[in-house]
Amino acid sequence: MFALPSIAAIPTGVPGGVVELRLPQSTTNVFFNEIQQLRLDNRAIVAIPLITTIGDHVVIAQSAKSTTELPFEVIEKTYREQHLTVENQRLVNPLAEDMKRIQAESALIQTAYARFSPMPKRLNPIALPVRGIVTSEFGFRRFFNGQPRNPHSGIDIAAEHGTPVKSPAPGVIALTGNFFFNGNTILVDHGGGFISMLCHLSQINVHPQQQIERNSILGMVGATGRATGPHLHWSVSLQGTRVDPLIFIDVVNASASAE
Ligand code: ZN
Repeated sequence: MFALPSIAAIPTGVPGGVVELRLPQSTTNVFFNEIQQLRLDNRAIVAIPLITTIGDHVVIAQSAKSTTELPFEVIEKTYREQHLTVENQRLVNPLAEDMKRIQAESALIQTAYARFSPMPKRLNPIALPVRGIVTSEFGFRRFFNGQPRNPHSGIDIAAEHGTPVKSPAPGVIALTGNFFFNGNTILVDHGGGFISMLCHLSQINVHPQQQIERNSILGMVGATGRATGPHLHWSVSLQGTRVDPLIFIDVVNASASAE
């Protein structure tokens, strides 16, 4: 290997990931596909939806005086299949009477995901909400009892029943509830459109509007809702786009420590 001249490499990301972009000074707004993105100091953490096409894209950075196009490239990522067996068939093919409940819960969750609080002052270091083995990755193409369902919208971390679940970052509790698929669930608003969802808890220890810190105990690991065993499901949503929590942690924590 030899050192190449300093041609600035175009940042890359994958569908379902995030890409960090350095911003021109005095940037006030950052948009991708007309959606406002998360900003941390002079960097944007851009959410790349799973359905994004492979190839070149641009983010728009606005300041009071100018608009700049920041290029990045989306490269291919292959997501694996995962086949799961759930004993309660009703959790795979809900009854007609379940649909009303499922739709009402989905509306509550979408409303929480749509929150856009002021940008967080600081996010690093984002912490895993529990320690354990990741048994299902983000984006897995899932089949329940042989039937295809939506791609996995978060990660599953296996942990013992009753293990404390901690907040990955500071924030405010946006929503709690016992939901058909997700079981006992907490949504945390961390600011700038960054929302965490934590599911299948055995116990919820917080209430809506409560302010929490990084590592505040939110609840306990369980297997409520559509779960094959005790684990934590953690989704990271950026402005309504679910992204891979592990990529998000890597990008936010690495960039912060590099300064
Ligand atoms: Zn899950």
